[in-house]
Amino acid sequence: MLLFDKKNNLIKDLNRTRILKYIWDNAPIDRAKVSKELGLSRTTLTIVAKELIENKILEETGYGDSTREGGKKPILLNFRDDLGFIIGITVGIKKIKVTLGNIKAQFLNELETDRAADEKPEETLKKISSLIKKLDVYKTGKILGIGIGIPGIIDHINGIVKFSPNLKGWENVKVKKYIEDEFPGTRCYIDRETNLQIFAEKWFGQINSKNFITIETGIGIGIGIIINDMIYRGNNDAAGEFGHTTIVPQGSECDCGNYGCWETVATVRSFINKARNGIEKGTRTKLPDYYIGGILTFESIVNAHLEGDEFSKEILEEYAYWLGVGIANIVNVFDPELIIIYGSASQLGDMGIKIIKNTIASNALPWVKRNIEVKYSRFGKEARITGAFGLVIKNILSIPDEYII
Ligand SMILES: [Zn+2]
Repeated sequence: MLLFDKKNNLIKDLNRTRILKYIWDNAPIDRAKVSKELGLSRTTLTIVAKELIENKILEETGYGDSTREGGKKPILLNFRDDLGFIIGITVGIKKIKVTLGNIKAQFLNELETDRAADEKPEETLKKISSLIKKLDVYKTGKILGIGIGIPGIIDHINGIVKFSPNLKGWENVKVKKYIEDEFPGTRCYIDRETNLQIFAEKWFGQINSKNFITIETGIGIGIGIIINDMIYRGNNDAAGEFGHTTIVPQGSECDCGNYGCWETVATVRSFINKARNGIEKGTRTKLPDYYIGGILTFESIVNAHLEGDEFSKEILEEYAYWLGVGIANIVNVFDPELIIIYGSASQLGDMGIKIIKNTIASNALPWVKRNIEVKYSRFGKEARITGAFGLVIKNILSIPDEYII
């Protein structure tokens, strides 16, 4: 009997989840359309919608168009405007960002503050708390939840940063507990920032692929993995550390202590060094004209390339090539249908995509007929905050991990 009840509850929860997510994607929408699109009976829709209206999650907002056959105009359902607000937070090496949004994941306000590279976790958490208190909504409105993206190895169930190679001294930091103690009655959710990125792509980016990879490029390399529509986390929440796979045996020393990691050949730092060495050796280049504030940056190289500097073009082509070498390895492991790139490499434009695709074609196993799409993210830097909002919304809608679409 118990099993029967459980089964029934499970179906009810799953239907409720599907209905909520569908309304979230398509609101305002009428009941008949939802039941038709999801293949659910009108009765199921009536029961679930009634429950969601009674629980003050949905409301009836006006009328839609009547059907071609005429008849009564259908009543439209939408999320309530007064449902409350969501706070999305990202903790970077140098910056903490606190963004206010609504149930539709629209950005309303953003506050940020600096953090020192060696800042202790307690200090950073205090800063987060004081930024939240500065938001007007803290005094006047209802906070539905707080979502936080942090680099590192995260226990997302218990909200603990197990370890973060990028945030010095962050080991076993109970972020969720701290925030929930500071703001009683408010739920806090945390996840690895690359997981929030890929989650944002899946939820908000209308990605139909079931198997795809996101790659964050820049100072380091971080990857997000979705396999069969689920975020792949690994056995220790540590999956995705692809930046530290060996690409050049006996290559240069990496921050992790090994040699020749992908990060030593495919991050902006190595190409800024290459450009500087070239300039010192007297290579013909316009690069010195592009120093920004006396400093050679990755943007300087991109700008010089756009102005026709050959040396800068070679450097960027090499960057794209080394990215392609690592991506070809990822392709061999995961066989994804889509790769989405973020960060500095997005500045490589069409030239970058072409080189990466060619390198995949020549380096990944040849007998598999692949048709991999490689593209830059349409969210860019916003992906993490969007993902942090999504994390809260997913929990408000009680959507389980096994059902992220
Ligand atoms: Zn390494």
